[in-house]
Amino acid sequence: MHAVANEDDHFLPNKIGRILLLSLEEVIGHNGVNAVLNVAELPDLIRNYPPNTIDREFGFSAVGHIQQALDRLYGQRAGHGLALRTGRAGFKHALREFGPMLGMTELSYRLLPLHMKLKSGLEGTAELFNRHTDQTVHLEETPEAYRFHMDLCPLCWGRRLDQPGCHLAVGFFQEGLAWMSGGKNFLVEETACAACGDAACVLRIVRLPLD
Ligand SMILES: [Zn+2]
Repeated sequence: MHAVANEDDHFLPNKIGRILLLSLEEVIGHNGVNAVLNVAELPDLIRNYPPNTIDREFGFSAVGHIQQALDRLYGQRAGHGLALRTGRAGFKHALREFGPMLGMTELSYRLLPLHMKLKSGLEGTAELFNRHTDQTVHLEETPEAYRFHMDLCPLCWGRRLDQPGCHLAVGFFQEGLAWMSGGKNFLVEETACAACGDAACVLRIVRLPLD
């Protein structure tokens, strides 16, 4: 069952849709998620999260509607913060589900120097998106930063915004980088967003930690 049937839609694995809803539930509670799903016009997902499978059946449009519903229900500023926190909460679910596939839970990974951990973690994440989702992403490296380009982005799918709005991805990477570095903070910012008319959503991740 597709959460939102739409011929132009693209899809994520059910597993990622499930992680999104479980993470959101950690941040706004069960009733909060129900309210969001109602406003997002996705009542079929209430108490009926997608199964933990890699079948690509969770629509980008469902993700976009959920992000939009957060802003509608809580206001843009609070919605922004909740999306960030959802992304942070999502990292540990993603690590459990996908970390072993990327070798990120192995001792040999944990023992790499920090810059190699970041490079290998970000490259692995890009490869995972390209292989298991309808997202197309690529990683660009500059001397001071990584740029994670999401050429097709579910978070702002179908949205029009004045400012970049894929806060969930920012939170996800902030948490991922903190995990990789043993608790350091990194500057992660969205410098372009498809919802603002840019060609892609781009996250800039400064290589050196802030602290
Ligand atoms: Zn986006």
